[in-house]
Amino acid sequence: MNNDIARMIELQRYWDTVLRCRDDIEKSDSSISFWKERLKENQGRVLALQETVKLSKSFLRQKEVDLASVEEKIARLKTRGDAVKNEREAAAAGSELAAASAERSGLEEEILLLMDELEVKSSLLADAEKEAAAASEQSGADIAMLEERIERFRKQMDEHRAKFDEGLSGLSAAVRPKFQKLTGSGNGKAIVRIDGETCEGCRVQVPVHLAGDVSKSDRVMSCSNCGRFIYNG
Ligand SMILES: [Zn+2]
Repeated sequence: MNNDIARMIELQRYWDTVLRCRDDIEKSDSSISFWKERLKENQGRVLALQETVKLSKSFLRQKEVDLASVEEKIARLKTRGDAVKNEREAAAAGSELAAASAERSGLEEEILLLMDELEVKSSLLADAEKEAAAASEQSGADIAMLEERIERFRKQMDEHRAKFDEGLSGLSAAVRPKFQKLTGSGNGKAIVRIDGETCEGCRVQVPVHLAGDVSKSDRVMSCSNCGRFIYNG
């Protein structure tokens, strides 16, 4: 076989490996980004729930303080009620006491609702924390695995790229520039087989005489459609 053809086939194999590794590294990188994004989302959800639980607790505490002060007021009013001098004072004390009692009932109701709400929010927070911890453990393991994979593929890619670069100098000046241009563009295929009369690079049939020449001759030839080097193998 023509020296250039044999070398190009060999170089194409190295190059195919380089591209496969590059694709795999890109995929692993995007999986890592996906996991990291998920972790950030989980963390954000936990932080938001922590904030709302904190707010509910402080609101509840405020209402409890309000209730205590209304209860004090009621006790005061009752003491004062015992010392009224006339009916007018008794009526005024009575209506103040009624207002304070209504306020107390309202506060008690609000506090019960707030306690229920706090319970629901706390349980949502506990779930979110549990989920975030599980996801973090899982994605931590996945990220470590992907990073290990990237390293492995990068090493393989570097090795094959070095072989490719080294081998380029063995190509004749007549084919080297075009070969480099083709490997650096599109899907990186510079030399392809012809299958009968069909170019495996573009799936187009080459003229019969060209296909015949490729199978018989030992010269470097190119597909009349896509321009890639073709060989019969
Ligand atoms: Zn072609």
